[in-house]
Amino acid sequence: MSEESWAKVQSCLRKNLSKPSYETWIRPTEFSAFKNGELTLQAPNSFSSAWLKNNYAQTIQETAEEIFGQPVKVTVTVKDSKDENFPLSEPVQSPLMGSSNAVQALSEKINLSKKSKSLLNLRYVFNRFVVGPNSRMAHAAAMAVAEAPGREFNPLFICGGVGLGKTHLMQAIGHYRLEIDPAAKVSYVSTETFTNDLILAIRQDRMQSFRDKYRAADLILVDDIQFLEGKEYTQEEFFHTFNALHDAGSQIVLASDRPPSQIPRLQERLMSRFSMGLIADVQAPDLETRMAILQKKAEQERIGLPRDLIQFIAGRFTSNIRELEGALTRAIAFASITGLPMTVDSIAPMLDPNGQGVQVSPKQVMEKVSEVFQVTSDEMRSSSRRRPVSQARQVGMYLMRQGTSLSLPRIGDEFGGKDHTTVMYAIEQVEKKLSSDPKVASQVQKIRDLLQIDSRSKR
Ligand code: ADP
Ligand code: MG
Repeated sequence: MSEESWAKVQSCLRKNLSKPSYETWIRPTEFSAFKNGELTLQAPNSFSSAWLKNNYAQTIQETAEEIFGQPVKVTVTVKDSKDENFPLSEPVQSPLMGSSNAVQALSEKINLSKKSKSLLNLRYVFNRFVVGPNSRMAHAAAMAVAEAPGREFNPLFICGGVGLGKTHLMQAIGHYRLEIDPAAKVSYVSTETFTNDLILAIRQDRMQSFRDKYRAADLILVDDIQFLEGKEYTQEEFFHTFNALHDAGSQIVLASDRPPSQIPRLQERLMSRFSMGLIADVQAPDLETRMAILQKKAEQERIGLPRDLIQFIAGRFTSNIRELEGALTRAIAFASITGLPMTVDSIAPMLDPNGQGVQVSPKQVMEKVSEVFQVTSDEMRSSSRRRPVSQARQVGMYLMRQGTSLSLPRIGDEFGGKDHTTVMYAIEQVEKKLSSDPKVASQVQKIRDLLQIDSRSKR
């Protein structure tokens, strides 16, 4: 039993795990020893080690048993033992999580660490970031980078659509890093600022101080890197900044609304630099995650929200977390101004995402779905699980959510007394199919056209 056997386990895991998971957690993990049925592995840092333990222990064990042909106990140690301060037996948590005065304490700390010229938003910390399947990978990588900067994923390239939490995650890295090491030189800059600074420096003949400023960071966070598009000179300078920082072992984190390969007119060499670390994407959150985000925000604002109102808002704003938060803020403001209660009935008309009050009746939705899917309303109300029926029922629920102001339980009632969780599941399923099943997507679009309701869901 040797290193080679671990290589075999790795190659087997490579086939069974997604590429980012494999590249992030399995590939960097090294063989250390195999004795008396105990396989000892070495993770590059404590974060990876805890992550492996929490998420891959069983998979690794099963795969190893298959390859070694005997029962195996897997132990993970940390390569560099000086950061062996992570409690492996407990779930991975940021020290920021769960401590109520964290933001305040942090703000004091940041004021103290004057060296760090960071411009971080105090709200953008890990404990305010709700992790869902859409962001698990990016979140894990962000934590890893804050824990062990300049080691594993350099650069970390976070990409994803507008309003999905890239800036939040990126700044959370900065906050967490400063918490671990208050003397760290953390620098957050938008690509726009970088460009403007550069132009100014050229004009005022201050290139040296420009370079000194940007090359002094231990951790640099560069946001909206897609704006480098076509800016030849800025790209040139950024290339040198990147190399200087990378060579010095500084951690680089980049955020963009698309992956490096899809940024038009980006120099080949920059594209390859951007791709040499880890590319982690954030996707639009599913319904459950959107609800958790609203719930968390309501808690932070100390506002009690009825669950059906949370469901209602989360069902309406699907593709952008900023809009989702905006809707909640408007709802809170609306209720406090008008004195109306925070209920679906009073809030719904105000929150119509189309902004023009397009509303259809549940009956109209039923009729059009029935027409397009060739399934009767009675069938949709029945408990039949026949595929065409359940398909039509799910689309009906989804469109009723979009086109009417009914709450989830009320939609359930329209479909013969289905549970609100069934409705939630249906909406989820349709959202998924809209991006993966062209047939369903075109049927849904057809019904929308018939009902003249806009599509806000860009998924
Ligand atoms: P992006 O940079 O991707 O356009 P932001 O990071 O600015 O998006 O996020 C938009 C808003 O949504 C911010 O107020 C942010 O706090 C919030 N947000 C995004 N993702 C999450 C999340 N997973 N949990 C909680 N809030 C989030
Ligand atoms: Mg942003």
